[in-house]
Amino acid sequence: MVRVYPKRSVSSVTPKVALHHPRLKPWGNVGRIPVYLVGDAASQVKVPTAGGTVTGIQGAQAAANSLLNGTSYKAELRSVKRELELHWFLRILLERLDNPGYDLLVGALSSRLRAFLGRHNRDSMAPIFWRLPLLEPRLFQVALKCLRWPSRISQAYSRFFTFFAG
Ligand SMILES: Cc1cc2nc3c(=O)[nH]c(=O)nc-3n(C[C@H](O)[C@H](O)[C@H](O)COP(=O)(O)OP(=O)(O)OC[C@H]3O[C@@H](n4cnc5c(N)ncnc54)[C@H](O)[C@@H]3O)c2cc1C
Repeated sequence: MVRVYPKRSVSSVTPKVALHHPRLKPWGNVGRIPVYLVGDAASQVKVPTAGGTVTGIQGAQAAANSLLNGTSYKAELRSVKRELELHWFLRILLERLDNPGYDLLVGALSSRLRAFLGRHNRDSMAPIFWRLPLLEPRLFQVALKCLRWPSRISQAYSRFFTFFAG
């Protein structure tokens, strides 16, 4: 027997998750002892998906390399940070899309693009990200939509012009 539930959530859990921000510096000192933070404690978490397992392990690897090789943690973190910043930036762009924009994005997922994404690890997107619009030029259109005025500002502008035109 199939039981159909009404379209409302029975309960919801909204956990707080650590999210990356480019300005965070996951190192410091406690007294004179240097401290390196890794994983969620360092907000090594991709902003669009809240995925932090792989990037957290990469952060831990960077901390271990820094200790073993006597290099700076900041330098060892460079590639993880580049990846996390790409995802952070993508989230900002995606938040600017409206429903038609999302339709455009989903429509742009051609078989060619899907095959490409299927061959590449989502945790190592930074070196190949620039190739996506070349594979699927409709992504340029999506990018243009992302670069439009933020909706609140454009609404204020349209109200301003309607007031003076009316
Ligand atoms: C609901 C949810 C879904 C997620 N889904 C995904 C996903 O699909 N894919 C993905 O990649 N990531 C996902 N994440 C994120 C991922 O779980 C975390 O990024 C990852 O577990 C971080 O690992 P961590 O070791 O840094 O921290 P944690 O896994 O939080 O480990 C920290 C550990 O330290 C312990 N601890 C805390 N304080 C103390 C203390 N004072 N003394 C001793 N021990 C202490 C805690 O009990 C915990 O065991 C999800 C997170 C949430 C909340």
